[in-house]
Amino acid sequence: MRWTEYLLPTLKETPAEAEIISHRLMVRAGLVRKLSSGIYSLLPLGLRAVKKVENIVREEMNRAGGSEILMPVLSPSELWTESGRWNVYGKELMRVKDRHDRFFALGPTHEEVVTDIVRRDVRSYRQLPLILFQIQTKFRDEVRPRFGVVRAREFLMKDAYSFHRDEACLAKTYDRMFEAYTRIFKRCGLRFGPVEADSGAIGGDVTHEFMVFAETGESQVFACDCGYAATIDTAECEPVQAAAEAGQAALEKVSTPGTTTVEEVTQFLKKKPSELLKTIIYKVGDEYAAVLVRGDREVNEIKLGRALGTTDFVMAAAEEIEKVTGGPLGFSGPVGLKGVRLIADHRVAGMANMVTGANEADAHYVNVNLGRDFDVREFHDVIVAIEGDPCKCCGKPLSTWRGIEVGQIFKLGTKYSEVMKARFLDEQGEEHPFVMGCYGIGVTRTVAAAIEQHNDKDGIVWPISIAPFEVHILPTNVSDEDLRETAEAIYTGLTDAGIEVILDDRDERAGNKFKDADLVGTPLRVTVGERAAKEGKVELRHRKTGETIKLDRREAVRIIVDTVKDEKRKLAV
Ligand code: ATP
Ligand code: MG
Repeated sequence: MRWTEYLLPTLKETPAEAEIISHRLMVRAGLVRKLSSGIYSLLPLGLRAVKKVENIVREEMNRAGGSEILMPVLSPSELWTESGRWNVYGKELMRVKDRHDRFFALGPTHEEVVTDIVRRDVRSYRQLPLILFQIQTKFRDEVRPRFGVVRAREFLMKDAYSFHRDEACLAKTYDRMFEAYTRIFKRCGLRFGPVEADSGAIGGDVTHEFMVFAETGESQVFACDCGYAATIDTAECEPVQAAAEAGQAALEKVSTPGTTTVEEVTQFLKKKPSELLKTIIYKVGDEYAAVLVRGDREVNEIKLGRALGTTDFVMAAAEEIEKVTGGPLGFSGPVGLKGVRLIADHRVAGMANMVTGANEADAHYVNVNLGRDFDVREFHDVIVAIEGDPCKCCGKPLSTWRGIEVGQIFKLGTKYSEVMKARFLDEQGEEHPFVMGCYGIGVTRTVAAAIEQHNDKDGIVWPISIAPFEVHILPTNVSDEDLRETAEAIYTGLTDAGIEVILDDRDERAGNKFKDADLVGTPLRVTVGERAAKEGKVELRHRKTGETIKLDRREAVRIIVDTVKDEKRKLAV
């Protein structure tokens, strides 16, 4: 490709709204342009990188036994009503109305549509397992679109769906997909880790997210040397042993005027936050639940949702708290609390002589003990994990890192096939719902994640497997015929050899061209400069290491072709 024939608008200034490096570089290097909040056009260079990722994903999906399809973006609301998600999905689901006043969803994911295809065309166990995938534009009206294409409202996703006769068969495909994902992200040159995760609106029990290590990542991961790794919404800590019964002091009600926060109460009573029991009242459907956690810990509402078995809950309002507990906000406690479901975090079992609210204004109890002063039947892990919590597998302290989620795989079970009546016949002619799995990769997000990981002060440093171009030819002066011809000859030679080359044939100052080359980040740069040309040489420079070698210009094409092959081999799996 010749720069002068291309749209490659590089920018010197840093775009104001770009908070993270990949977003800044994608704009500055002319990969994307914003159309509206969370909506981006891919310019030629951006599209090339996206296509590279797409191809790696496609190859690995085919290798894992998938068949590529393309489903529509628009799907009728009836399908979503059938699965129950027309209401559950909430505002994130973009909806449109046609001229007949029929509603459609702009697909955020395609479980409903693919299940509909399969229930019509797959009837026998002989056709299973079946893996279908597509690479397609998805729509999600994110609350906070940000970081460029990392959290967009319209983005490119690979989504795959598998259909099985039983869980054992699903487990095999799940493992195969896990392996395919590992191969994909390795081939993209990413440093990443698979982590146990929460299944959210998609549903199902077993799920892993693939996280690219990045300090700017929105996800916090808890990990242990033993191999355990989980997101903040799933990271479980080892349950704490019950406190010894000996040493229980007498229950006492104390006056605590105007102290409503953990800090105020504990300071007033000269106690530590870890000695206080927080009681948080939630409205769950039409009922109320009190969630009990140690004073120094916070509730994780995703974990709480799993403990409650529903997502239909909110923190109760002050008037509701008053009605349910008899006392104002800030003074709730489990002692004497009636008609309210009690859910305690595991760690509460290890507490003794606690401070709790007394369910009346300006009063707390001290020396409250579980079993003696109140009872809890439901213990769950409902708190936000923190660094140093003991690992559930081995007890060693958990450490944390941040990451960008680039993919997620789920065992769905029969969640969709049951409600949508998608069934097959077994050997005996008996009907069963398909057992399903689903597997997503954010294609555009993966490109951004790669840049987030591979950059330096001058610009992008592409892994060669997903670089828009492999070689960047830079004649320092195009008015010099000798330089121009040498550059053209190398360009033709490399292009003929199947190498992807960009030739900076602009009549620009060499300094600017070098700056742009670094910004755009092509792995190998060939400089055709005046001094070297006099000696019949050109310079080959590795963007990543800065390593530069002089090549005889007659041998340049052959050596560069070999270098490209070597570099690619390093990322092969
Ligand atoms: P997140 O937790 O980041 O919102 P998700 O868990 O809702 O993502 P999935 O439903 O698992 O996303 O979608 C599969 C993949 O699609 C994600 O792993 C991610 O790489 C990508 N993805 C999801 N939402 C977006 C978005 N708003 N913009 C770009 N890519 C996205
Ligand atoms: Mg996800």
